[in-house]
Amino acid sequence: METINSVRGFRDILPPETDKWQRVEKTAHEVFRSFGFREIRIPVLEKTELFRRGIGESTDIVEKEMYTFTDRGEESLTLRPEATASVIRAYIEHSLHASETVTKLYTIGPMFRRERPQKGRYRQFHQIDTEILGPDDPRTDAELILMLTHFLRKLGLENLALEINSLGCPNCRPAFQKAIVSFLRGREKELCPDCQRRLNTNPLRIFDCKVESCQTVIADAPRLPEYLCGDCRKHFETLQESLGLFSLPFTLNPKMVRGLDYYTRTTFEITTEFLGAQNAVVGGGRYDHLVRDLGGPDIPGIGFAIGFERLIAMMPEADDALPPLLFIAAMGEAALKKAFHICNSLRMKGLAVEMDYAGRSLKSQMKRADKLRCRYALIVGDREIEENRASLRNMRTGEQQEARLDMLEETIIQLER
Ligand code: ATP
Ligand code: MG
Repeated sequence: METINSVRGFRDILPPETDKWQRVEKTAHEVFRSFGFREIRIPVLEKTELFRRGIGESTDIVEKEMYTFTDRGEESLTLRPEATASVIRAYIEHSLHASETVTKLYTIGPMFRRERPQKGRYRQFHQIDTEILGPDDPRTDAELILMLTHFLRKLGLENLALEINSLGCPNCRPAFQKAIVSFLRGREKELCPDCQRRLNTNPLRIFDCKVESCQTVIADAPRLPEYLCGDCRKHFETLQESLGLFSLPFTLNPKMVRGLDYYTRTTFEITTEFLGAQNAVVGGGRYDHLVRDLGGPDIPGIGFAIGFERLIAMMPEADDALPPLLFIAAMGEAALKKAFHICNSLRMKGLAVEMDYAGRSLKSQMKRADKLRCRYALIVGDREIEENRASLRNMRTGEQQEARLDMLEETIIQLER
């Protein structure tokens, strides 16, 4: 019969890779908790309007990349392409702002974008997403970036480049946009068709264009930081000062605008040489008007999203899989029955124990114990059952000892220590 394969750009994550995923998740829970974050779980499906309004009509994500469909002819729905809009939707819907002045949330899960699949770029990918709602103090921005780099270091990631920028606010950004438009006047033809359109709809997006000729045109364009108002300048300076306190190296990248329209002031990215063209591992920034734009109160926020797949690809190889403690090799009917009972009882005590029910030869059972890299093997036959004993073999040293069956649990628990 013909086989059915997964959908293009959607992939299975198999063991042992899943061991790495678990290690990342565990580290995230631990690190984020000490910085005061709580987990939120949100649906993968939202009303399309949420992303249109949240991310912005003229962004690549909304224009080209969303999985949008009409649900039974009733309502336009979209598989979430990112998490921030959904988290803010939930924050407003459940009035989380009413019960606390600072809300720190994180969520881990799949996102969906219809892009051209390639290494490090999938149509279903995963993000680790954090958001701080409430404060607009630049130390909050520094705290978030600090937590991020601490998290990445804990996972063994070095040689990461942190780039920061400030996108200003509604007071100072229009002047910059005007400067960009006048800088590009007369050079429209050198821009790609998308950017020619962006010039009228969303000039900032040109900085984010991946077409090389557009990058050449924009290379000498005015720089955003030169246009920051006093407040934004002060905010940006305090952020840099605060990062400096922790000797956190960063570079200023005045051309980094990020691909989503909701950003204001601080934006940042972490990139690595390691991933080639798909080099961005983390993107984040401040969004002081998103809550209001989504119908909530006027509350500022900041967050980041880590690309889970790209993070995993960069992580050093480590043996995460803890091999089973014990393999029980049983020979004979009575031994099999007894071993089945012991094996599953030990498992319920939290010990990793394996056995084989097929009644294969001792040799082939020991081969499987080896293959599973079990630390010990317990060998029992029908006669041993009668005599209340079994052989316990240390699989590394080959040493063998007698063990009493009625004392087995205690003996095995001792081994684990
Ligand atoms: P890129 O410039 O690579 O398209 P982006 O700016 O669109 O990235 P963001 O929206 O900032 O990405 O998402 C944050 C992170 O999510 C990225 O830095 C990246 O690690 C990851 N990411 C984004 N799109 C994909 C994808 N299609 N497949 C895998 N990871 C992705
Ligand atoms: Mg993208």
